[in-house]
Amino acid sequence: MLIIKINNNVSQTSIDRVRRKLSDEFGKYHEVSDGRGIVMIVTGYRSVANIGQFKRIEGVADVIHDFSGYYLAGRNYRSENTVVAVSGVCFGGIAIPVIAGPCGVESRTQIIETAEAVKKAGAVMLRGGAFKPRTSPYSFQGLGEEALEYLADARSRTGLPVVTEVIRAEDIGPVSRVADALQVGSRNAQNIPLLQALGRCNRPVILKRGMMMTLEEWLMAAEYILLSGNPNVILCERGIRTFESMTRNTLDIAAIPLLKQLSHLPVIVDPSHASGRRDIVPALCRAAIAAGADGMMIETHPQPNKALSDGEQAITHDTLKDLMPELKRFAETTGRSLW
Ligand code: PEP
Ligand code: MN
Repeated sequence: MLIIKINNNVSQTSIDRVRRKLSDEFGKYHEVSDGRGIVMIVTGYRSVANIGQFKRIEGVADVIHDFSGYYLAGRNYRSENTVVAVSGVCFGGIAIPVIAGPCGVESRTQIIETAEAVKKAGAVMLRGGAFKPRTSPYSFQGLGEEALEYLADARSRTGLPVVTEVIRAEDIGPVSRVADALQVGSRNAQNIPLLQALGRCNRPVILKRGMMMTLEEWLMAAEYILLSGNPNVILCERGIRTFESMTRNTLDIAAIPLLKQLSHLPVIVDPSHASGRRDIVPALCRAAIAAGADGMMIETHPQPNKALSDGEQAITHDTLKDLMPELKRFAETTGRSLW
C-alpha cells in the first residue's frame, strides 16, 4: 500500500489537490484523520510506482510504501504507545488496570454481587457477557437484552465501567448504551463486517485474539477497526490452540513483547480463557505482568461451581481479593503499578 501523510497545518486547497490526484490515479482510497493530520492509504499493485509524483505535491509531508498488510496498527504509523481510555480507566500507560467479572451475566443478583466484590478487591472495570457466542448451540447463550439491563444496574451501583461482548453489528447500538467498551470475542476476531461496524462506533474495542490467529492476522483485524475510524483498540491475548490438552488454550506469552514491538496499541491478557482452570490463573497474571502486559481481564464468579459458563476457570471473589495486592506488589517490582 501507498501511504500519504498530510500535516494539520496544510490548506484545504492543498488537501483537495491531493485527494483529486489520488482519485484520478487510483479511484478508491482510504482516508483517516487523527489529531496530527490526515493519512491517505491506497492499496493495490498500481500504487507501487507512484512515490515520487506524490512527494512533490505541496502539503504532502511524507509518502511511504508499506507491504505488511497493516499500517495504522503498527509502529511505523505511531512510534509512541497509544493510551486507550475507557471512561477514565487508561490502558497502555505505566499503570495496569484489572478487569474482572463473570463469563456471563446470569441474574441481577449475580452481577451486582460480583460487581461489588470486584470493586472491593480493587479491580477497576467489570466484565460480563450478555450475548455469548458459545461453541455448542446447547450451551448457555447469555441473557441478551435482559443482561444489559442488569449490567447497567451494576454499573450505576458501583461506578465501574463495563465491558461486554458484541457478536453482531446490529447489537452495537443497544450494547453501547450500557457498555463503556465493546469486546470482540475470539470466534469473531475475523468477522470483517463486525470489525468495520465497530470502527464506526464511538466506544473503545477490546479485540480478542482468534484462537488460531497469527499475530499479523490479529494486527490486520485491528487495522479494520482503525481504518474505519475508531482509534481506540485494545488487543487481548486469550490463548491459542495447541496440542496441549492440560489447559484449554496455551497462553502465548511471547505475543506480549512481540506485539509491543510491532504495535503501539495496548495489549492485555485474559488468563482465564488462556488456561481454562482457575488454579493457574494467578501465575498467568504474574507472567503477563512480567512480559509487559497493559492490563488483565479475569473471570470471577460468586459460586464458580454453579456458573452457567466457564465455571472451571472462574476464580472466587476471595481469591480475587487476595490476588489484587499480590499483583500490585509484583507490578511494582517491574516498574509498573496497578491502576
Ligand atoms: C469470554 O470472554 O467470555 C469469551 C467468550 O472469550 P473468548 O472469545 O476469548 O473465547
Ligand atoms: Mn468465558
